[in-house]
Amino acid sequence: MNKKRRTPRCPYCGGEMEMHEPLYWIIYWSCATCAAKAPTCETREAAYKAALRRYNGANRVLSLAEIDSRVGEPVCLEDYDEDGDLCYRTRTVTRQEYESHRIYFNSGRKWYDANEYLSTWRCWLREPTREEMEAMPWEMKHNEH
Ligand SMILES: [Zn+2]
Repeated sequence: MNKKRRTPRCPYCGGEMEMHEPLYWIIYWSCATCAAKAPTCETREAAYKAALRRYNGANRVLSLAEIDSRVGEPVCLEDYDEDGDLCYRTRTVTRQEYESHRIYFNSGRKWYDANEYLSTWRCWLREPTREEMEAMPWEMKHNEH
């Protein structure tokens, strides 16, 4: 048996991940809290490494296309609160409405304007640290089209 190893942590919410083995050659880890899923692998060892690698990978701001491809998955959304301070929270991508440029989160309860992306709000792969947020400048809002 393997020695006790550290449990992979969720890249989005930091929760503990659990191993799933629906078939003996299909193995993946997913978060017990927010259901984020690490890559599926064919062996337990590879799946464990994939879950850890994902957590260790560099955090970054996602592109709109990446958000669009993450329907049903959590992202860490950063924007301004009522007091004008930057804050972030984990939200689940619901859908993008291309005509209205609205991107819906949390089953449609909340939406953000795709045209404002990177100038008033943005999404991170997982919770950013203060250093990461400061190292990633916001886009200036130049001319309104
Ligand atoms: Zn999670």
